[in-house]
Formats: sequence, C-alpha cells, structure tokens
Amino acid sequence: MEFSEFRRHAHRVVDWMTDYLETLDERAVRPSVQPGELLAKLPASCPEVPEPFETIFEDFQSDVLPGITHWQHPRFFAYFPANSSPPSILAEMLTATLAAQCMLWETSPAGHELEVRVLEWLRELIGLPKAFTGSIQDSGSAANLCAMIAARERATGGTVSTGGLCRVPRLTVYASAEAHSSVTKAATIAGIGAKNVRKIPVDRNFALQPEALAQAIRADRGAGCQPACIVACLGATGLGSVDPLPAIGRIARDEKVYLHVDAAWAGSALILPKYRHYLDGIDAVDSFVLNPHKWLFTNFDCATLYLRYPDELANALAITPTYLESAPSESLPEFRNMSIALARRFRALKLWFVLRSYGARGLRKKVQDHIDWTAALARRIRETENFELVTEPRFALLAFRFRPDAPEGALDRINEELLCRINDDGRIYLTKARANGDLVLRFSIGQTYTAWKHVVQGWAVVVETANSLDVADIDASNRC
Ligand code: PLP
Repeated sequence: MEFSEFRRHAHRVVDWMTDYLETLDERAVRPSVQPGELLAKLPASCPEVPEPFETIFEDFQSDVLPGITHWQHPRFFAYFPANSSPPSILAEMLTATLAAQCMLWETSPAGHELEVRVLEWLRELIGLPKAFTGSIQDSGSAANLCAMIAARERATGGTVSTGGLCRVPRLTVYASAEAHSSVTKAATIAGIGAKNVRKIPVDRNFALQPEALAQAIRADRGAGCQPACIVACLGATGLGSVDPLPAIGRIARDEKVYLHVDAAWAGSALILPKYRHYLDGIDAVDSFVLNPHKWLFTNFDCATLYLRYPDELANALAITPTYLESAPSESLPEFRNMSIALARRFRALKLWFVLRSYGARGLRKKVQDHIDWTAALARRIRETENFELVTEPRFALLAFRFRPDAPEGALDRINEELLCRINDDGRIYLTKARANGDLVLRFSIGQTYTAWKHVVQGWAVVVETANSLDVADIDASNRC
C-alpha cells in the first residue's frame, strides 16, 4: 500500500469509526450468529494475489462486523466493562503507527519515561503510597501472575526461579471463594498448583472471613506447607465484594505472608477520595493491580501492577543475553524484568491521552455517574414486583433475581431462561453469577457512552422480558 493510498483509506476508516461510535446504540449488543458462520465464509487459504483495500474493508463490514459483540455499546451491562474512549483510540492509532517495542529504555526512551510518569500520576490519583513502583501489563491475569511469582520468590528465598520447585516445601495460596479465576491460573503457572490454592469462605457480604484465613494458614503450617501468598479482592468479579484489608493485612504481617490486592476493576473507584478508606491496611500490602482497561476509559490492553519491592520480581525474571545488554539508568525501572513477555507495547501513551483529556475531574465525574446510576437502579429494582435485589450496589455493580410465583427450586432455571431471552433479544447484554448457590443476574454499569437513559432502557428490557415468560413452561434444559 502506497502512503498516498494509506492516507485515503485511513481517512475513510476514521470516518467509519466515528459513525460506528455515534450510532452504536442502534445495534444489537450481541450478534445473532451461529457458531461457524464466519468460518464458512472465509477462504481456506491466504490469497495468493494482493486484494484491494476496498474489498477487504467491505468484507469487514459485511462478514466480520455482524459477528461482533459490541463491548463499547452503551447498553453493555455484562461482565465488567472493558471500556475505551476517543482519546484512547487516537493514542492506539499512534501506538500502532509507531509500533515501538518498550522493553528497554534504549528501545523506546520516551515510551519508558512516559510509563514511569503516568504510573506515578495514577498512583497519586488513587491514593497509593509512593512506596509502590508501577508497571503496565497486558492484562490483570498477567499482573496477578507476576505478583504470584514475586510471592513465590519471597517464600522460597528467591530459589525457585533458578532451582525450580524440587527442594521447597509445598507452597500455598489463600484467596476468597469469590476471587477471579486468574488467581488460580497464576498459581498453576507459577508451579504452586491449583490444589494448593485455599478458597477461604466468605461472610454474608461475600467478603473473605479473616478468622478462616488465619486458621487455614495455621493448619497449612502445621501440615508442613509454606504459605506463600494471600490475595485480597477489592471488587471481586462475581458480585463485586471487598475483602477486609486491615484484618487481612494484620494476618499477613503476623504470619509473614506476601499480600497482593486484586483491584482490577474497582481500583478505578479509588480516584474518588470518598473510597480511599478501602486502602486502610495498605501498609501491609506488597502488590496491587488495577486495570485502566476495565473502568478507566483506556483501551485493552492496559493493566497496572504496583509492587512495593519490584526487585523481588525483577530478580526472578531478569535474564540478559548479549542482545539485551544496555545501560539502564539507575533511577528508571527495568520494565522487561517486571513482565512475562519481553516485548512490550507502548501502552503508556493511551493512558497519558486519557488522563490528560478527561483530567482527574472528568474521570471522577464519569465514575461517580456510574456509581450513582447503579444506586438509582437498585432503588428501582426494590420497587419492582417479583424482583429481588440480591446484592446492594458495590461501586457500579449489583445483582438481582427474578422471583415470580414459582417453587424455590425452579428459580435458577427461570433466571437462566430469563438471561438467555434478554441476551437473545439484543437490546442489552447481561451476565450471571452465583450468590449463596443461587443463580443471579448481574447489572454492571461502566461503559464510556452509557447515560442514565440506557440504564432505564436496560431495566425496562429486563422487566418486559420477565413478564413475557411463561414460568410454568420452562424446562430443565439449559440453553445458555
Ligand atoms: N481480577 C478481577 C477482579 C477481574 O474481574 C478480572 C477480569 O475480569 C481479572 C482480574 C483479570 O483481568 P484480565 O481480564 O485483564 O486478565
């Protein structure tokens, strides 16, 4: 592609992007395609001769787009948001154009230094102490894995990264039953093993019970295990629960166990000073993860990992063959030694664009709106006949359950069917969780383009769909 053509096509693509974002709410959130539909349309082999951009772009619109779930849709209320924003998209375009690798200062000096500075800005915005050094990871999963590796190295005196796990006691990890699956995955990859992750029971707020944690650690020590890591949730994935950090911190200190906080989603709420109390106990915390690619208007991939002792991770991951020898500055972190992959995208640019474009004030307003609308939705749910608000709003997430006149034992099936019908309808997208064993529907508000009217529309879809269900006729087959 000649640069003159590139310019022409790029303008057309940007026009398309703007139209797409402006008219997103006219689309169904989830596509109505069947498995294999796109595959059947795609040629089995790569084209031998070059194809014109026009044809490729047309195929994108006619074949690919109908199979896309629109994560930036203002009525996307599923999972957690993976939001983006115009300034972030513009930065991503520049990042793609530069296509720089940010593994060493030398391979991208400005990328490196911008990463240092935006992470300091974010640290200050959320009220984390200066003792923490940040790095940008591709995902919260990778950040949790890095924390787990740092914890494993601490527990074993830094021997596992060189000598492997053969001569160390059985390592154990502690997290609430509500913790994200990436915690168990991290333990698996770090060689600790999924079976050695102790799922600590939760209380009626779905928060980890500190006494049960202390007991589990004592029992493991008694059995000859080496407790290596405690993971506390600040906004767990299913129901948004928050573990009691001060009490967990005291146990971590007393037991000398590494403490990691997974605030991948709810960490964004800490930009609002009134939520800073969730950092009480931070003095005992060794690492902290927050994903700006969830609820801080920054495109995936952008997960921030803050480490109190970055050398613990760096010592485990530092490998320097000749081609990576360079003279790092003493005062700058070696980001390549704080990540799983060597090559690193220039992720700091989009965060910098977002933080500057919205300013702290603009970001606080958006996050506060989401929280306020969640509270208002909760009031509406309480007033709606045949619905139960199962969890009070946790930041911008709540869970509810349809409770029509039906036997208790049929309610899971009814709610599962309700969820399927809502999502098949396409006007909104919701996902599910379990609360005390019951299937509940989650309503997660956090999209960049969501307004209160979209939340109102969303709840109207839920009620309309529920009213159209013939609850006596729902069979046991699980359609979802
Ligand atoms: N931690 C929590 C609490 C999450 O909700 C998620 C994902 O939803 C993760 C970690 C994993 O983050 P990522 O999807 O960026 O790997």
